[in-house]
Amino acid sequence: MTEPNTAAQAENMREELIRALAEGRMRLHELPADLSGEEAAEIRRAALEQLTGANLVDMARYSIDFETAARRNCENMIGIAQVPIGVAGPLLLRGKHVDGEIYVPLATTEGALVASVNRGCTAIKAAGGASAFVEDTGMTRAPVFRTESMAQTQEFLAWVRAHEEDIRELAESTSRHLRLIDIRPFAFGTSVWLRFRFMSGDAMGMNMATIAAERVCRKLIGPRTGVECVALSGNYCIDKKPASVNWQEGRGKRLHAEVVLPKEVLETTLKTTAQALAEVSYRKNLLGSIAAGANGYNAHFANVVSAYFIATGQDVAHVVGGSTGITTIEARGEDAYVSIYIPDMPLGAVGGGTSLNTQSEGLRLIGAIPDPDRPGWAARRVGEILAGAVLAGEISLMAAFTSNDLARAHKRLARGQPHNPSPGLPFPGTQADPNEA
Ligand code: NAP
Repeated sequence: MTEPNTAAQAENMREELIRALAEGRMRLHELPADLSGEEAAEIRRAALEQLTGANLVDMARYSIDFETAARRNCENMIGIAQVPIGVAGPLLLRGKHVDGEIYVPLATTEGALVASVNRGCTAIKAAGGASAFVEDTGMTRAPVFRTESMAQTQEFLAWVRAHEEDIRELAESTSRHLRLIDIRPFAFGTSVWLRFRFMSGDAMGMNMATIAAERVCRKLIGPRTGVECVALSGNYCIDKKPASVNWQEGRGKRLHAEVVLPKEVLETTLKTTAQALAEVSYRKNLLGSIAAGANGYNAHFANVVSAYFIATGQDVAHVVGGSTGITTIEARGEDAYVSIYIPDMPLGAVGGGTSLNTQSEGLRLIGAIPDPDRPGWAARRVGEILAGAVLAGEISLMAAFTSNDLARAHKRLARGQPHNPSPGLPFPGTQADPNEA
């Protein structure tokens, strides 16, 4: 782009770019590279306003580092979508990476979700706290290869087994934080998948795993075997699709949390009983999910996972994995044992959207700050806190089902009607819980 000499020339140039976009002579990503991210976004917005008649003024109000976001996180940027963030807590959690009270940021547009998780946190605290546990199962990428025959498939697999160390060395040379854990092959006919599983430190690891797999396929496996890699992601990874391989073997983090809720807490905070909770859990979470052919045996994991993910800069599409999991409720006399389990939960404390200003604040709020002396610690802390928050959300919604108060709460909270203060509850009018998935 030629440098404009005067303000008038700059304005003319801007007007011409807007016209070029609006008239389709230039595509949205073809704006001159020397424009800043903010200048380009402003021109795109103006063109879109001309084209559609939509007023885009609120997208243009933000405080985050727009230039970094335009470079790393989003193409053709036109502004920022703002999502309200609430906080639930304190959540009293005992784990390896958290031991104490945490305030959980949740970004959502679903009225009553935060109140619901908050009520679960109140119950957990009154019960003396919940336990949480994270297994780091590693991030996977599984390229798919095409052979000529089953015989060649077997030769190919033998070559991979014999050269695992070479593959590891090359893969790990792509990042300071990546470690190859294993390669799980799967094959039939002329198709072969190699499911590479990596530890990725405090990062969720999907880009790191993809970059490493690409290097290994292009520089080593392809040239040395003559077997073609048809797609770097052969869907046996498997990313952002609910799948039994992730259910069985885990992906990213496996999350666990549990609590025993004493009778008094059930009665006073949750207005329920252990027997009623166990019955709803059996007929809804277990039998209902079987009847529906679902592979999420829970009430609403996805609600809490998505709100937490937006608040802390995770890849929101991984809510797919976060919706698959199990809630168990057992009556122990008049107390209730409640647990949650999520086998497929990719998440991190660095990389992706975690460095956006607001999301990075969300991570700081929960104390998930990477420490070079403890690789992976911050990511596992993100996971432990999520496990506790999901448990709180399950407790509150399951209790609401036993109180037959669902529709009333829907009207009162999600439709914005005035809240009636209700003593003893964490938020006014939150006896029941309208959030269901
Ligand atoms: P990333 O932002 O691509 O990479 C993480 C970076 O953080 C690495 O460059 C790593 O450096 C650095 N790093 C600094 N401190 C670290 C620490 N303590 N632990 C680990 N890494 C550290 O993030 P990613 O997690 O690999 O990928 C996440 C992104 O992938 C998200 O934006 C997600 O939406 C996207 N995604 C990609 C695909 C795909 O197929 N590519 C699929 C799904 C999602 P070194 O490498 O030098 O160690």
